Formats: sequence, structure tokens, C-alpha cells
Amino acid sequence: MTDKKKYPRIAIDGPAGAGKSTVAREVAKRLNIKYLDTGAMYRAVTLKVIRESLDLNNSEALEELLDRTSIDLDEEKRVYLDGKDVTEEIRRSHVNELVSPVSCISLVRRRLVAMQQAIAEESKGIVMEGRDIASRVMPDADFKIYLDASLEERTRRRSKEQLEKGISLTKEEVASEIMNRDTIDSQRDDSPLTIVGDALVIDTTGMTFETVVNKVVEVISQELH
Ligand code: C5P
Repeated sequence: MTDKKKYPRIAIDGPAGAGKSTVAREVAKRLNIKYLDTGAMYRAVTLKVIRESLDLNNSEALEELLDRTSIDLDEEKRVYLDGKDVTEEIRRSHVNELVSPVSCISLVRRRLVAMQQAIAEESKGIVMEGRDIASRVMPDADFKIYLDASLEERTRRRSKEQLEKGISLTKEEVASEIMNRDTIDSQRDDSPLTIVGDALVIDTTGMTFETVVNKVVEVISQELH
């Protein structure tokens, strides 16, 4: 059996609210391989930047902050910043607002990409989701999937998620947060959100998560068997 068959490496990219996390997590579960949410890593660094009121233009201070930062994601999908559980806090508005500007900084990207590549290297198969997974982190991934959906649909899904967490935001606020992040994420110089030539693009507008998961698993299974 080839390594690809035994230990597939799957990249899932796409804009905010396209359902990447839910889909990636379920695909990993069905294939019984590791799942890595790279957005959670950028969010954790952003939270630390906020807590320390760090000036993003001060690269020396940022480098020093990164030197003493540890980020861990466990199998239960909980996120730990310097050993403390920050799973809920990294999804809150103050982090949403700053995460894209922080993610533009090459210093931050270099560190996190190196960590992500090391995790992929030591894992026996992985589903990794983010913005630059197929283009930068795992350009040699066995499967590259780009999940998209209309802004309206992504706003609807994100609003529902926020409501379930007890966060009450208007549709306009959610749409504007998504649009701001998408603009910064796709226009930055370092590893912008992009669709690589060999990606399978799935427009999930009007599809249930289950349908999307089935489609992704079907495509992968066809190749693996
Ligand atoms: O995936 P999620 O929406 O949680 O990601 C939060 C932010 O982290 C994105 O808007 C983007 O700015 C940044 N990010 C990134 N590269 C990745 C994953 C996330 O720049 N691979």
C-alpha cells in the first residue's frame, strides 16, 4: 500500500464561514486521521498580542512574544495558549477583529507554518484546514479542496454559530466581519488565500454539511481504493 493510501494528507482551504472546520473535522473522523485547524493557531497568537497590547509594528517585541508562546491543540479540538484553555475566547469578536492583520505578518506566518509542517510530518495522515494549506503549508498534499459559499450563506451559518455560543450580533455585523477578513486574507502579500490550479472547488451554497462531507469523502475514497 502506498503512503498516500495509508496516510492521506488533505488540504482544505477557503474563505471565512465556508464550513471548513465542520467539514474538515468530520472528514478526519471518518478517515480516522488527524485534524488540524490552523486558523485556531493564528487566533491564539492574536489573543496573546491583544492581552499584551503589543504594537504590531514592533517586530522585535513580536519576535520575543512568539519565542515565549506555546500553542497546543488536543484531540478533543481544544486549544491551549501557554498551557491555558482558550478554545472559547479565540472565537470572540476582539480576536475576529485583529486576527487577519496579525496573520499578514510574515514573522508570524513563518513560525506557524513551520509548526504546521512539523505536525504534518509526524502525523500518519492529516486533514489540515486554513487559507494557505494547499499553496504554502502542504503544496504536495494528496488532496486539495477549496470550499466556498456565497456571502449570504456564510453570514447565515456564522450568525447561527455565534447565536449558539450566546453571542448576539446583527447579520450586518457578521457580514462585515467576514468581508473584512476575506479582503485582508486574500489581498495580503504573504501567502494570500488563493485557489491552486489542482484544487477541487466545491461551492457549498445550499448544501448541508453532511452532503459536503459525503462528497469530499467520496472523492478521496475513489482515489484511495
Ligand atoms: O479559519 P479561521 O476563520 O478561524 O481563521 C482565522 C484567521 O486566521 C483568518 O481570517 C486568517 O486571517 C488567518 N489564517 C491564515 N492562514 C491560515 C489559517 C487562518 O492566515 N492557514
